[in-house]
Amino acid sequence: MKAHDGLYIDGAWRPAAGQDVIDVVNPVDEQVIGQVPAGTAVDVDTAVRAARAAFPAWAATPPAERAARLAALRDVLVARKDEIAETVTAELGSPLQFSQNVHAAVPIAVAGSYAELAATYAFEEKAGNSTVYLEPVGVVGAITPWNYPLHQIVAKVAPALAAGCAVVLKPAEDTPLTAQLFAEAVHEAGLPAGVFNLVTGLGPVAGQALAEHPGVDLVSFTGSTAVGRQIGATAGAAIKKVALELGGKSANVILPSADLAKAVNVGVANVMSNSGQTCSAWTRMLVHRDQYEEAVGLAATAAAKYGDRIGPVVNAKQRARVLGYIDKGLAEGARLVAGGTESPREQGYFISPTVFADVTPEMTIAQEEIFGPVLAILRYEDEEDALRIANGTVYGLAGAVWAGDETEAVAFARRLETGQVDINGGRFNPLAPFGGYKQSGVGRELGTHGLSEYLQTKSLQF
Ligand code: NAD
Repeated sequence: MKAHDGLYIDGAWRPAAGQDVIDVVNPVDEQVIGQVPAGTAVDVDTAVRAARAAFPAWAATPPAERAARLAALRDVLVARKDEIAETVTAELGSPLQFSQNVHAAVPIAVAGSYAELAATYAFEEKAGNSTVYLEPVGVVGAITPWNYPLHQIVAKVAPALAAGCAVVLKPAEDTPLTAQLFAEAVHEAGLPAGVFNLVTGLGPVAGQALAEHPGVDLVSFTGSTAVGRQIGATAGAAIKKVALELGGKSANVILPSADLAKAVNVGVANVMSNSGQTCSAWTRMLVHRDQYEEAVGLAATAAAKYGDRIGPVVNAKQRARVLGYIDKGLAEGARLVAGGTESPREQGYFISPTVFADVTPEMTIAQEEIFGPVLAILRYEDEEDALRIANGTVYGLAGAVWAGDETEAVAFARRLETGQVDINGGRFNPLAPFGGYKQSGVGRELGTHGLSEYLQTKSLQF
């Protein structure tokens, strides 16, 4: 796997200030596949200065030209699609087909959507006797996680560039090669030097330096609630803009009129996809008591069928964390109906697709985000009970509702305290705003809502 030994700053690969490196490990066989620089506060400062210097000219570039550069970026990503998929598979461990269909394809769609939005968005509007200008916020510090390595980057960088902002990216430690590939794509697409900069490094070192840097106007963070809380506090103290995409514990509510087998099978697939490492995964399945045992049987069968087809989790720490939650589920009295063990392979961070039945709303595995291939099935008495359980966590990121009649599903979905709901399965939409109610975050990504995070308004009165 190709790894750069420098940082992409001001349009070129440059040596980091220090000597420290980060090993990149393939989660399938635990072998080191590359090394990248562990940037420090000095490197972050250099990158932020480059971004600040590049910002005025980029902000003044007509939106149509920014759109053309984003279209070129999308085209480079398309041309390098196979390489993207192979890189994500190498450092995240996801099966190659999933990497092609999701890890490479989704960010291409998102980059394309911002190429179009940059060209068509109204950056100027009228309000009575005022003209309102939507102007770029400035320099963006983007901090991303490893679970969808390229998507998380593009979901921040594409709207930021469309808005006219300059960006410094600090990607996750586990998946820096995908970030380096993205920096190459930005270069190939001909974006001006300094508009996009990449500093690989550790979260508490490079990430924290970026979040605290006075030259950063907006911190856009995706990751754990614990780190998000810290970043929110730092940004608050500096009166700096902040966008936070955090954890989830989304409910998949199967109403009695639904096609039970379809709802259960799609629900299991949703949780097991990407080895359960999806913040919006429907990790709690809510089933009416009369259909409960049938649903449990269907879910256990569906999970068992996955067998070895899902990839490993990202690293040893994550595997230990997920297995810890499985132990907790057993200790608190949940009934294990599938999986529950490390895979018998000698190498790799594999965990068998796991399903727990008889999960009650207070149990740890019904409240906390596990971020592994673990489904909890809960029983409800009636619709009000289902609503209370679904809304009964600190999170509110996503969810699903299944019913025989779409109107019935929509009526229930409107009462859920969550940012996104799929009706009878739904379909991914790169233009739909994505983000959390409650402790799942602040702000939205994707589509026009994602673009407006990177804009601020100025009104002129006549
Ligand atoms: P994490 O919070 O540990 O890391 C996320 C990023 O923050 C990484 O780049 C990391 O290096 C950096 N970081 C860590 N400590 C930092 C600090 N003190 N200051 C600044 N930056 C720091 O999360 P993770 O383990 O990489 O990802 C898993 C978590 O992310 C899960 O809880 C998941 O739900 C959440 N997540 C949320 C979304 C969403 O869109 N809501 C998407 C993906 C993941």
